[in-house]
Amino acid sequence: MDLKQLYQEVILDHNKNPRHFKVMEACDAQAVGHNPLCGDKLVVYLKLDGDTVQDLSFVGDGCAISKASASLMTELMRGKTVAECLQWQQDFHHAATHQDVDGSHLGKLQVLLGVREFPARVKCATLAWHTLAAALQQQSHAQTE
Ligand code: ZN
Repeated sequence: MDLKQLYQEVILDHNKNPRHFKVMEACDAQAVGHNPLCGDKLVVYLKLDGDTVQDLSFVGDGCAISKASASLMTELMRGKTVAECLQWQQDFHHAATHQDVDGSHLGKLQVLLGVREFPARVKCATLAWHTLAAALQQQSHAQTE
């Protein structure tokens, strides 16, 4: 199995069995993200303990890339500080839009960097992250444009 196939497997797995896929009652912040180009729509919920993301979940509907990205995000950002989450969002967006960036600092998120070859799918991959940033900044709506 080559790397591309392995990445594909991870995406399909997270799409089929998304992690932390649930509405969060009594959350501290939430935001709605919408990518009209593809039709991806999701809601991100989070609970903070001081400056740390204690709990993170999402619900929504969209393509495999958008769901896998949201699912991986809920795994990776748990326990991170608000500043760290915003940094990850910027780093991921940068890596997803620049062919020359080595994505090794992104850990598991590297599986999504295949979208660099398909610019129209970049918004699918980054939607959850923009939505998380919006929730952290206490806005209610994130648009990918
Ligand atoms: Zn999509």
